[in-house]
Amino acid sequence: MHVIMLGAPGAGKGTQAEILSQQTGLPHIASGDLFRQALAERTEIGLLAREYMDRGELVPDEVAIVMILDRVSNPDCEAGCLLDGFPRTLQQAEALDRALSEHGKGIDKAVYIEVPDDILVKRLSGRRLCRVCQRPYHLLSAPPKAPGKCDRCGGELFQRSDDSEETVKERLGVFFAQTMPMLGYYERQDKLIRVDGSREIQAVAADIASALRAAIQ
Ligand code: AMP
Repeated sequence: MHVIMLGAPGAGKGTQAEILSQQTGLPHIASGDLFRQALAERTEIGLLAREYMDRGELVPDEVAIVMILDRVSNPDCEAGCLLDGFPRTLQQAEALDRALSEHGKGIDKAVYIEVPDDILVKRLSGRRLCRVCQRPYHLLSAPPKAPGKCDRCGGELFQRSDDSEETVKERLGVFFAQTMPMLGYYERQDKLIRVDGSREIQAVAADIASALRAAIQ
């Protein structure tokens, strides 16, 4: 099963993909995490991606496509995967379909997590991540047990530099201009599932699980 998680920054794609990954055993692949990891390792892709990420812009399609297709070709994705943050443009969606179809595979469903703008901004400004395992927290709605420390691995929590107010505005603009138009691509193929992402994490997760169950039966 190949599932795409779609939504604006702060919609909860990563949180929901992680829950779904635990339920299905499928790997959760987050393009933003791959870029941040590449940057931490100071690889060519990481250093190239950095300037775009710092500005809140999309990394060029050809770079994002090569990176994700390489990851998706790993043996752990043989039975499928949960893609979070990719594709973000029509070109990326088409490249992914071409690559999967070469192996007789395809996207089963694209889950679009809808959240109003004002909630997105609040979520992003309070978001903190574990530097070690990337687990997300929120200062108000999902704080860690010990301030500044990850519950799971004890790693240090940090705020992503692109979660600053100015860059968040840019990222939301990029989502509406470049990613929203791509929703039609999956809608036309009858693969789009819309979920109200403004509610509690577990309520959203239950909706996604039941919509996917109904879709694959
Ligand atoms: P995210 O963690 O998904 O919010 O992504 C952080 C940043 O990584 C984005 O603002 C982009 O600069 C870059 N990025 C992540 N995924 C993609 C993608 N599919 N295409 C282009 N740039 C991406």
